[in-house]
Amino acid sequence: MHTATEHVTPPPPPAASLNRLVRVARATLERGRFSWFWVVETCPFCGDTHDHYAGPIDGNPYAYAGHAVAARCSRTDRRRIALHTPTASLWYVIEPVAPSRDN
Ligand SMILES: [Zn+2]
Repeated sequence: MHTATEHVTPPPPPAASLNRLVRVARATLERGRFSWFWVVETCPFCGDTHDHYAGPIDGNPYAYAGHAVAARCSRTDRRRIALHTPTASLWYVIEPVAPSRDN
C-alpha cells in the first residue's frame, strides 16, 4: 500500500524574487550637465518615458545598465498594471540601444 506522501512540494522561490516583475527596457544614453542618464523612451510596463541616473560624466554609464532597476511608473500606472498581482514590484533591465536619430 502507498502512503500519503506522494505529492511533490515545489521549493519556495528565493525571497528576493517574490512578486517581482522584470522586463527588458531599451534605453538610450543621454548626457546631462553633470551626469549621464539612461532614458527609457517606452516603458515596458506603462509606455511612458523614464530616465535613470547613470553616474557622473567622467564615470562609466554602462556600469548602470544591464541589470534590473526599479521602474519609475506613476502610482496610477502601477495600480493598473499590477491589478492581478497588487503587491508586485515593477523592474526592468536597462538594455542600451543607439539613439534613433543616428539611423
Ligand atoms: Zn513605466
